[in-house]
Amino acid sequence: MGGLATALALAKKGFKKVEVYESASNLGFVGAGIQLAPNMARILDRLGVWKDIEKEAVDLKETSIRQGSTDNELGHVDLKYIRSTYNYPHMVGHRSSLAGSMYEGCKREEGIKFHFATGAGEIKSWGPNPSFTAIPRNGEPYEVQCDVLLAADGVKSTIRDQLLRLKNIDAKIIDTGQAAYRIMLTREQMQHDPELLALLDRESVTRWIGEKRHIIAYPVSSKQIYNLSTVQPDVNFAAAPEATYTTKGSKPQMMEVFGDFCPMVRRMLDLVPDGEVCEWKLRVHEPLPFWTYEQTALVGDACHPTLPHLAQGAAQAIEDGAVLAVVLAKLPDTSPESIPKALKVYEVVRRERAYTLVELAAASGRAMHLGEGKAKEERDRQFAALKEGKGPVPDKWADADVQKIIYGTDVAKVAEEEFEKVFGEV
Ligand SMILES: Cc1cc2nc3c(=O)[nH]c(=O)nc-3n(C[C@H](O)[C@H](O)[C@H](O)COP(=O)(O)OP(=O)(O)OC[C@H]3O[C@@H](n4cnc5c(N)ncnc54)[C@H](O)[C@@H]3O)c2cc1C
Repeated sequence: MGGLATALALAKKGFKKVEVYESASNLGFVGAGIQLAPNMARILDRLGVWKDIEKEAVDLKETSIRQGSTDNELGHVDLKYIRSTYNYPHMVGHRSSLAGSMYEGCKREEGIKFHFATGAGEIKSWGPNPSFTAIPRNGEPYEVQCDVLLAADGVKSTIRDQLLRLKNIDAKIIDTGQAAYRIMLTREQMQHDPELLALLDRESVTRWIGEKRHIIAYPVSSKQIYNLSTVQPDVNFAAAPEATYTTKGSKPQMMEVFGDFCPMVRRMLDLVPDGEVCEWKLRVHEPLPFWTYEQTALVGDACHPTLPHLAQGAAQAIEDGAVLAVVLAKLPDTSPESIPKALKVYEVVRRERAYTLVELAAASGRAMHLGEGKAKEERDRQFAALKEGKGPVPDKWADADVQKIIYGTDVAKVAEEEFEKVFGEV
């Protein structure tokens, strides 16, 4: 997400040679939905790809937070005001539509070249003229030299590890102890169940919550697919924290984890064919002491992995790309001093915002997963107050004040406005 957005944003600013190295052999379309928040839509629109994504995305009108065990509604938030307040709607879509449209946008730019099935290995130089070993899946490794190296290599970033090792910092990722099942049900699979069909036809995000677990669900792909994403204690990966991030989950185990959820939710989970349960491990790492060094910078999950509870990880990676394009386009010259300073401006503009959202996402998860006790009583009282239109929303992404911070800030504009001042200070 961050790599595609950065490449496209740079090309749109007139950079003529943008080379993208991707270790996978293609975009690897994960069967999963994604929330497309207004701050993401604003940037994608400027990059000329939002219209294509919007076509098959679903415009959210509301969110309903429900007790997983009973399906009783705890809280309800109207989201219709978002479009008029922030100029962009809050939509939900398919990941393949988001990544695919950005990729198509990149392909329309002459200056962008993709090297699939080619990983970035050892960094030979951080600058001036950073260089790294490119490792093609079929072929001999070779060295690549560039003017600026932007590493959007995800939460498992090996470039982050190399960067922090320069200062003897261990960037160990934190095992959150949580995992997620990602499920997509087709209209065909749901068609014989009127209750389930009603969910698919509603322009709503529904979250069913329980102790240490929740399920968030919404329709995508012009309401042809119902997307469910769960979070639960991670039992499968716990023994092997360094293992791969996704695994084939066990359906009986999934049914057991949500065994006390209401019959309607269980009927949905039961529609997942045996052998098709996809499980993701959720990982984060501590805030990094720095994101850039010489002519190299980290982007997206590589520097600020965000738990999914705020639905902002990809949006934040895309914001990084937009800001990088602004600061690099504003470079007064390409001297060995100027590029690192421009990258520092990127870090200054992005850092506090990204880490604030990392913490908000974690806090939202804690509130959703409360077990019996005073804190849960207080949370449920807040949910109940929402029915009279009062107070904060414990499910943070739906809270008007949080939305104001997230959707109401145009990071590219901030970068434009602050560049000169910050460039002079870093
Ligand atoms: C369950 C779940 C739900 C989520 N829901 C939302 C949501 O609703 N909204 C939202 O905005 N975000 C959401 N997110 C977060 C979002 O998916 C991530 O934050 C986002 O994908 C991060 O983008 P990225 O570009 O930093 O990393 P990635 O998308 O992980 O991309 C990294 C890329 O780098 C490649 N790569 C890795 N190493 C190398 C190498 N050495 N050389 C070359 N290529 C390499 C990988 O193959 C990959 O393509 C969710 C996440 C999860 C787990």
